[in-house]
Amino acid sequence: MTICFNCGKKKEDYEVWWNKLVIGITFNSEFQNNQTIRNMTDKSMMCHDCIKIIEKSIDKKNNL
Ligand SMILES: [Zn+2]
Repeated sequence: MTICFNCGKKKEDYEVWWNKLVIGITFNSEFQNNQTIRNMTDKSMMCHDCIKIIEKSIDKKNNL
């Protein structure tokens, strides 16, 4: 069973989830430097909701 590294949510079959490798390919270095992302291990998985929350927090920081 897969559980979200960040929020503890369990994965449903239809949901998109992310691992560190895919995040590295998909997102820029600012995203990868996020504390939560940095705490992921190679085996950690994260749900799409948590990815969106981190994206938003970075957007907010850039708009200050
Ligand atoms: Zn999550």
